[in-house]
Amino acid sequence: MQRKSTSTTPSPNAVVFADPEAEVFAVNKNWLLCHSCGELQKVVAISAESEMICCNCNSVLHIGRSKWLGWGLSLAVTSLVLFFLSNAFPFMTLEVGSQSQTATILDGFWALFDRNQWLLASLVLTTVFLFPLFEIFSFLYLLIPYNLNKKVPGQRIILRWLTQAQDWSMLEVFLLGMLVASVKLNDMAILHFEKGAYAFFILVSVLILAYLKLDRRRLWSWIETNNYFCRDELEWVYDCQVCQAMVGKSIVESTGQCPRCHAEVHKRIPNSLQKTTALIIAATILYIPANILPIMTYSSLGVVETDTIFSGVVELITAELYWIAIVVFVASILVPIAKLVVLSYLVWSVHTKMKTGVRHRQFLYKLTEFVGRWSMVDVFVVTMLVAIVQFGFVYTVEPEPAIIAFGAVVVLTMVAAESFDPRLLWDALENEDTE
Ligand SMILES: [Zn+2]
Ligand SMILES: [Zn+2]
Repeated sequence: MQRKSTSTTPSPNAVVFADPEAEVFAVNKNWLLCHSCGELQKVVAISAESEMICCNCNSVLHIGRSKWLGWGLSLAVTSLVLFFLSNAFPFMTLEVGSQSQTATILDGFWALFDRNQWLLASLVLTTVFLFPLFEIFSFLYLLIPYNLNKKVPGQRIILRWLTQAQDWSMLEVFLLGMLVASVKLNDMAILHFEKGAYAFFILVSVLILAYLKLDRRRLWSWIETNNYFCRDELEWVYDCQVCQAMVGKSIVESTGQCPRCHAEVHKRIPNSLQKTTALIIAATILYIPANILPIMTYSSLGVVETDTIFSGVVELITAELYWIAIVVFVASILVPIAKLVVLSYLVWSVHTKMKTGVRHRQFLYKLTEFVGRWSMVDVFVVTMLVAIVQFGFVYTVEPEPAIIAFGAVVVLTMVAAESFDPRLLWDALENEDTE
């Protein structure tokens, strides 16, 4: 967006049309554009561990990080070891009568794979294995050369992907899923967590800490010092959502690409409202079968029972497992509905050019983005139950169609939130300023 708060920038009326053929002029400026509202501001020197807040919308622009490199490196190496341990050793053992079953993290994936549930199997494999592994390797591939000050090929694309793929790595959601599954199982069988689970518990916290410590701004300026690209010094600049570079209007119009990280840069995400609306409609339609159809079937000694998402919650309540019932209710029922309602409201507010409560709506958007992935809990619970509860006639669990519909609802609402451009919320105010 083009609003500028520094005195060195021209007023919107002073914009000169840039020559698209002109050479790109790249410099390093101590400025940052806010992702949420587009306000441009000067970066001030901040002490370690303090935050820089946007003067317009209060979003966090930048957090100072002390000793980030040393911490980042040791956390990345630790997480690689823990990732290996948590996948090499069994995760849990379940005992029913005299029989026992042991499962590793990936057994959930194999169980779905064997039942030809390709879509769900690949979703589980990607979110609990491939993306986390990619994250850990990316940390090492970026931080070791940075420490030695030796650039290696592909770092640009890796840092870009690390930023974009972060939401799709769901180890902490899987962890919550395993806790829910263990409480459910404790009722009818004896469950032990094994070595792999302990390694996994530590891995989740180490990886979160590694993310908190990673100073992306510093890595970007190491890969490419310049963060301000334009063809004409007076043209408006837009922010790159990935590397925070400021890209001139003429470059955005001609190439649509950030010269620093090569991610797409748009004034606003093209057709943002249409895309979000289409995804909301698709998710709403799938939400119906996801709730009406059964998500899994239990068969125990010839008695077959099916569970829908809602009846699963009711069962937890009758078993007096109130806390877990609340967790499942919030993650699987409340959050998907709330996301659909909030996103529809945001789209509608942009359509009607609503001018009041922009900050409030921006907060709703951030919340939607943040909570979205936690709805995957039920998918992971079913996956693990299918993997471990296989005792033939005595006790088995099988997945049912609703779990696919439900997984699709979670993915679609996540993509819907990603395709909504929060800067649109501020545009109604902008128009008012120029009127
Ligand atoms: Zn802002
Ligand atoms: Zn960029």
